[in-house]
Amino acid sequence: MRFPLHIATDMMRWQLANWWRGNTRYPYVLMLEPLHTCNLACIGCSPERYNGDLKDRLSVTQCLEAVDQAGAPVVSICGGEPTVYPELTELVEGVIARRRHVYLCTNGILLDRFYKKGRPHRRLSINVHLDGMRETHDMVTARAGVFDRAVEMIKEGKRLGYQVCTNTTVYRETSIEEIEEMCGFLTSIGIDGMLLSPGYHYEAIKENHFLYRDEIHQKFRRVLELSKRYRLYSTPLFLQFAAGQRDYPCTPWGNPTRTPKGWKGPCYLIEGTYYPGWKDFWGGVDWDYWESRQDARCQNCFMHSGFEPSVVRKLGDNPRDVWTMLRWQFAV
Ligand code: SF4
Repeated sequence: MRFPLHIATDMMRWQLANWWRGNTRYPYVLMLEPLHTCNLACIGCSPERYNGDLKDRLSVTQCLEAVDQAGAPVVSICGGEPTVYPELTELVEGVIARRRHVYLCTNGILLDRFYKKGRPHRRLSINVHLDGMRETHDMVTARAGVFDRAVEMIKEGKRLGYQVCTNTTVYRETSIEEIEEMCGFLTSIGIDGMLLSPGYHYEAIKENHFLYRDEIHQKFRRVLELSKRYRLYSTPLFLQFAAGQRDYPCTPWGNPTRTPKGWKGPCYLIEGTYYPGWKDFWGGVDWDYWESRQDARCQNCFMHSGFEPSVVRKLGDNPRDVWTMLRWQFAV
């Protein structure tokens, strides 16, 4: 089974509860950024995510309040770098106590700090950023040795009994041969799953490492082939979308983002408006406009944060899609 059964059933229960209440828009995954401080400055990351001062971080109370407000069954703790957050163990335990599933997104460098205090739990997955093999990943993270350290921490996580997956951004420089090599290597060290997505062209990044629409389709047609041989967590319907074989509206409300500056609208990616409170955010973003993808900043966006939720919400439209997803869920 691809995803653990308890995650799939909690997600289905959440969807049924919202359907019963008549809600058409509701969060699926909370993107929780407790801090905008990082020990790296990767080439594809928005500077606002790594330049922040640690003292400006959200408190654990503020984070858990966001978990309650969003209500989503899955919480992705990202940032910044979560392992730099001094209260990380307390935060993870607090989210688990609320019966949510945690994806702890990390570059892995300081993961041993978390391993010393934390504990494996069926509601916790460690999600390590890995953008290729050694040379490419060290280039993307702008520091030598990061690949080796990330791999060491993946192996250690598996040894300790954690669920460990990876998150890979595909850039213009990324060769699919190398992605295949990485999938083979990660499989050999026991990875639980791999997420692959094209990068987003943040306005603040001047260098052009990012793919345009046609280039994304070209590379992801090949990623789609890889998904038949390796345990990818990216859904086949999302990969078909990235490969240009189907279309979706965006679902920016599916993954709301809480940051030290407030709730970020319209989506995880666009450096738009920060809202002080949940109600201002949820009622203040023009969701119709952003779902339509008509904004210039959406033209080359094929990010999983915007479109994996679209796969979920459009699943009922076509029974063949349900069958595709069921086969994928039970294939490995
Ligand atoms: S298409 Fe991408 S950039 Fe536009 S709202 Fe959706 S997730 Fe954000």
